[in-house]
Amino acid sequence: MSHETSQDTMAKIVSLCKRRGFIFQSSEIYGGLRSCYDYGPLGVELKRNIANEWWRSMVYEREDVVGIDASIMMHPKVWQTSGHLSGFSDPLVDCLNCRERFRADKAPKHAPGTEITFHKGGKTSGEKQKGPVSEKGYVCPVCSCPNLSSERQFNLMFRTSLGPVDPTGDMLAAVKPEMSSEEKRAAVDEVGARSAVYLRPETAQAMFVQFLNVQQSMSMKVPFGIAQVGKSFRNEIVVEHFIFRSCEFEQMEMEFFCEPGTQGEWMKYWCGERMAWYKRYANSGDKFRLRAHDDDELAHYSDECYDVEYLYPWGWGELEGIASRTDYDLGKHAEATGVKLSYFDQNKTDPQTGKPGWRYTPYVIEPAAGLTRSVLCFLLDAYHEEKGLDHEGNDKSRVVLKLHPKFAPFKAAILPLVKKDGLPEKGREIVKTLRRAGLNVSYDEQQSIGKRYARHDEIGTPYCLTVDMQSLSDNTVTIRDRDTATQQRIKIDDVLAVIQTRLNSEQTGC
Ligand code: ATP
Repeated sequence: MSHETSQDTMAKIVSLCKRRGFIFQSSEIYGGLRSCYDYGPLGVELKRNIANEWWRSMVYEREDVVGIDASIMMHPKVWQTSGHLSGFSDPLVDCLNCRERFRADKAPKHAPGTEITFHKGGKTSGEKQKGPVSEKGYVCPVCSCPNLSSERQFNLMFRTSLGPVDPTGDMLAAVKPEMSSEEKRAAVDEVGARSAVYLRPETAQAMFVQFLNVQQSMSMKVPFGIAQVGKSFRNEIVVEHFIFRSCEFEQMEMEFFCEPGTQGEWMKYWCGERMAWYKRYANSGDKFRLRAHDDDELAHYSDECYDVEYLYPWGWGELEGIASRTDYDLGKHAEATGVKLSYFDQNKTDPQTGKPGWRYTPYVIEPAAGLTRSVLCFLLDAYHEEKGLDHEGNDKSRVVLKLHPKFAPFKAAILPLVKKDGLPEKGREIVKTLRRAGLNVSYDEQQSIGKRYARHDEIGTPYCLTVDMQSLSDNTVTIRDRDTATQQRIKIDDVLAVIQTRLNSEQTGC
C-alpha cells in the first residue's frame, strides 16, 4: 500500500471514530492532549467486547487460568527488582538540523558513511546540505539529516508521589547555591525518589508479585495462569498512528506458570491459541502473522519470544508479544523479598536429588496483548467501502464496518418504518425483550430507513429489524443482514432466539 493510501485509510478511521462516537481526542475543547483519547459510547462497547472475548477464552473457558485486577500503583521496589527503574528506557536523540526528538531504535537506517542530502533547517525545499551517516547507521526520521546528538536513555515510567507530600518544597530546600548543577540535579532526584511511586508500565508485575496468594487461595496446580486486563502507562517518546502507540493504554496479559523444561511446548501451544483467537474474529486472517524474535532482540532472561503482528496500513507491526521469560521474574522478586516464590509438586521426583517431591521456581510464558491496539486493528480489519449500483442504476455505495457480531457495539437496531400508526410502540416492545436478555440494542426512528441502514452499516450493527405495517397484522419483522444487505421476514416471537443463535455462531463479520 502506498504511503498516501496508508494515510488515507487512517484518516478515514479517525474521522469515522469521531463522527460516530467511537473515539474522541481527550480534552478536545481545550485543544486536545497529545496522545490521550477518550472512548465514546460506541468505542467503550467495542473495547469492552474485545476484552470480554479475551477474558472468556483465557479464563471462563479454561480450568487452569484465573483472573486478578491489581492496583495501578505498586511498591516502588517492584520496579527496581523488575529492572524497569534502571532499564525500561528508550534511546532518545535530537536532530541538530530540524530539532526533531526521536527514538534511535525506530529511525530509518542506512549504511554508515553513506552521503545523505537534506534541506537546511528541516524545510522541504531551499538550501541543500550533505553529510555522512554515522557509525550508528540511522538518520532523522523527519528531515533525513545524519547530523544528530548523542543518544540518551529516557525512562518511560511516569513518576508521581503517594500521600500528602509535596516534594517540590523539599526539593527546593535540598538545593544549595554552592552546589554544581550536577549536584543540584542529584539532590532533586534523591528527594523525588524518596516519595516516588510509578504508574505501572505493564500489568504483568502484579501477577508475579501475587503468585503465591493466587496459587494458595485458589489451590492452583502448576501449570496454571493468572490473567489481567487493565491500564498501563508509558511516557513514550514518539506517539504515533492514533491509538496504536499512546501514553495511556490498556493491556490484556496472562502469566502462565509451568514446570521448568516444559516451556517450549507451552510456548508452541500459546502461540497457536493466540493466533487462532485473532483469526476467529477477523475478516482477513492473512493480515495476522507470528514472527520469531532474532537472538539479538531477545531480553537476556528470555529463551524464546514471538510477536503476533498485524499488517497495519503502514506495514507489519506488533499487536501482542508472547515471551518465554524463564524463572527470571519469580526468581528476582523472591531474591529481593526473601519470600519463596516457588511451587512444591509432591508427585514429581526432584531431578537433582532423585528423591520424591520437587520444589522449583516455575517458568513463565507470557502472552501480552494490547487491548487499545486491538481496537485499532479490528477497526482496520472491519472497515470496508463498497461501491456499485443496484439493478435500477441507483448508487448503492456504502461504508460497512464488518465487525464480528461479538465485537459490535449494538447487536441489533430496531427501526420502525414510520414514527406513527403504532409502529414505535411495537418496536419498543422488541427493544425491551432484547435488552432484558442482556443485548445492547439501538432503537432508531430518525431519518429515512435508507439513511438508518447506512448509519448502522457504518457502526457495524450486524442486524436491523424493521417494523412495518405488516408487523401489526401478523406479528413479524424484517431482519436485514449488515454484510449481505439481504432481508428476511421472521416472527417477532423468534427475534431473540434468531439473534442469539446468529451471535453465538462462530462466523466472522463477513
Ligand atoms: P512496541 O514494540 O510496539 O513498543 P512493546 O514490545 O514495548 O511494544 P510490550 O511491552 O510487549 O510492548 O507490551 C505488550 C503489548 O502492549 C504490545 O504488543 C502492544 O499491543 C501494547 N502496547 C505496548 N505499548 C503500547 C503503547 N504505548 N500504546 C498502545 N499499546 C501498547
